[in-house]
Formats: sequence, structure tokens, C-alpha cells
Amino acid sequence: MTARMLPSTGLLRRVRQPSAPIPHRPDDDGLLDRFGRRAVDLRVSLTERCNLRCTYCMPEQGLPVIPNESLMTAEEIERLVRLGAAHLGIRKVRFTGGEPLLRRDLADVIARTAALGVEVSLTTNAIGLAARAADLRAAGLDRINVSLDTVDPDVFAEVTRRPFLDRVLDGIAAADDAGLGVKINAVLLRGVNDHLAPDLLAWCLDRGHELRFIEQMPLDPGHAWDGDDMVTAAETRALLGDRFVLTPHDAPRDGAPAERFRVAARSTGDELGTVGVIASVTESFCADCTRTRLTAEGHVRSCLFSDDESDLLGPMRAGASDTDVLDLWRRAMWAKPRDHGDDADGMVHPSRGMSAIGG
Ligand code: SAM
Ligand code: SF4
Repeated sequence: MTARMLPSTGLLRRVRQPSAPIPHRPDDDGLLDRFGRRAVDLRVSLTERCNLRCTYCMPEQGLPVIPNESLMTAEEIERLVRLGAAHLGIRKVRFTGGEPLLRRDLADVIARTAALGVEVSLTTNAIGLAARAADLRAAGLDRINVSLDTVDPDVFAEVTRRPFLDRVLDGIAAADDAGLGVKINAVLLRGVNDHLAPDLLAWCLDRGHELRFIEQMPLDPGHAWDGDDMVTAAETRALLGDRFVLTPHDAPRDGAPAERFRVAARSTGDELGTVGVIASVTESFCADCTRTRLTAEGHVRSCLFSDDESDLLGPMRAGASDTDVLDLWRRAMWAKPRDHGDDADGMVHPSRGMSAIGG
């Protein structure tokens, strides 16, 4: 399958475009692209496998398995992060997948990464986290984001195709007890869990977890995404408005994808906390993108929505020097597309889904 253009949703509001292309790569050590952006934030996928089958992310039968020998080892990840931190300006590393907790060597991967002096975070579905949160914290994990689209067990089973809500909730509680800062990510699906958005927010506010709603992106491998059916950020704010008053947060956004709001109870006016809404489809924030990604097989992917990948692991295993690997990574970044509409008006549905790229 190749990337294909999706019909324009008619919703896309381009907030700020990256600047005009720079004709030649300046003599600069960092991960610079043609539009003047610099990547400092690395996402590393540890596996494409997952124990859930969220309908917006994974096909029911799962994805073709990547053989273990094709995945980056802990040592290879450490080498790439060391190069990124020492020479390219990488400051933060987030491990993701697939489900990163399925890697038995996750604590080792985290310990090696934390020892390099970068901030380490994890995006996870939290299944199995109850038994491992304290160890991961001790290994150097700073923060986690847990995906939780609803706290209704039946709706959870419908969205994820698995009846595992209790395990997720146990994982979140253990992470909190271990002192990990917990944020919750949720995707709303029309007619499935959108009506439960206020309940999810109330649940998160009660426990002090910041919740961020993310617009559903065309990253499902089944290509069933329909822009006209997507619950937009504006609709999400309206859904929450029945029970809560949202006031834009005064803290500067600093290029962060989430627009943050202070939340007060509509009935009493009591301040309850904050919520974020990420308009990943309807408001392009490509101009402020600071990300570079490594797939589980060690390919640099500079944009979620571009199928261009540059293999670093193959050359590394064939004996490439640090200088060669750095050069490949810089060249991949220089080729990063301007935005996720592939420079046209409409979003591109990449051939690999979110779980394969690393969300
Ligand atoms: N399994 C882990 C988890 O669920 O947190 C990590 C990988 S998952 C691909 C990372 C994030 O991507 C999750 O927060 C998930 O909700 C989000 N995601 C997956 N598919 C998406 C889509 N089509 N649109 C928006 N977000 C998506
Ligand atoms: Fe698995 Fe995360 Fe994708 Fe859900 S969103 S199927 S938990 S990788």
C-alpha cells in the first residue's frame, strides 16, 4: 500500500505555515530541516505489537509481526540516543509503539537512556504497568502518558476490542503511587465514546491527571478514517461545555500541540484543574514541530504523515561509523516535508498505521 490523498475535510485551518524553504543546508550540527525547524524531541517506537486493538489504530487481526532480530536492541537504541543527545541537540526521548510495555527489556532501555542525561517519558496503554511502574521509575522514567478513551468498561471493550479496563486503571494507579507524572490521552469517536467525554474529564480531574483529547488522525491501517465524521477539537470543547466552563490557559503555548484550558464546574464555579485539546487535524501545528522519530526497526521518520523513512539500523549493523550515522540522520531530517498535508490541501493517509510508526 502506498500513501494516498484523502479528500479534504474542509475543516483544515492552517494556523501558521513553516517558513519558505532554505535552499542549502547551513553548516549546522543539529537536526535542521529545509523550513528552519530544528528537532530536539525524539520518539522511539520499541515494537509494533500491542495487546489492544483500538479501532482507530490497529486492525482486528493485529499487524504483520516484525521478527525480533529486526528490532533495535537496547544497545542500539542507546547508541542512537547517545549520538542524538551528544551531537544533534536531542533533549527529550519518548518511548512508544505499539505497546512499549511488551518489551521485556524496557527498564534496561530506560536506564540506558536516562544515563545519557535526557528526559525520558513513555506512552503506554498501561496494561501490565501495575507490576512494573516502580521499577521503571527507579530506572529513570520521568513521565508517562496513558491512553484511556473512556472509563466505561463496555465502551472501553468496544473501542479497544479487549475487556481490559481494570488492568489499565490498576496500571494508572500504580504509576501515580510510584511518583510518575501521569497524563491521559483520549481519542473521541462519534457515537461511541464522545458522549462520555465529560465523565472521562471528571474522572481525570478527581485524580489530578491532566487529560488531553486528540483529534482522530488518518492513521488507522484499515483506512476507515472519515474526516467528516471526526470529532473536532471545537466539538470536544462544546461537549465538555455542558458540565464545565473552559477558559484558555494563560501559560504560553510554546509550540506545544495541546491548547490548554482551565476547567471550572459549571454548577458551582469551582476551579477543578486543566484539560488539553490537540487539534491534530483541524489546526496544523506543523510550523512548530520539533520531532524526529525512530521506528522499531531503526528507521528515521521525520513526519508521521510522510512515508519517507531512512534506515539507520542497517548501516549501523553493517559497521557505519558514528559520523556516517549522524550524516544519515541529518539528511533524513533535511528532507522533512513542510506539513502533513504533503504540501497540498488535504491530509495524506500514510501506508503504515500509528502503531507501526510509533505514536
Ligand atoms: N500503545 C501505546 C498507547 O496506546 O498509548 C503507545 C502507542 S499509541 C500508537 C500512541 C498514541 O497514539 C495513543 O495515545 C493513541 O491514542 C494515539 N493514536 C493512535 N492512533 C491514532 C489516531 N488514528 N489518531 C489519533 N491518535 C491516535
Ligand atoms: Fe495499541 Fe496504543 Fe494502538 Fe491502542 S493506540 S492499539 S493501545 S498501540
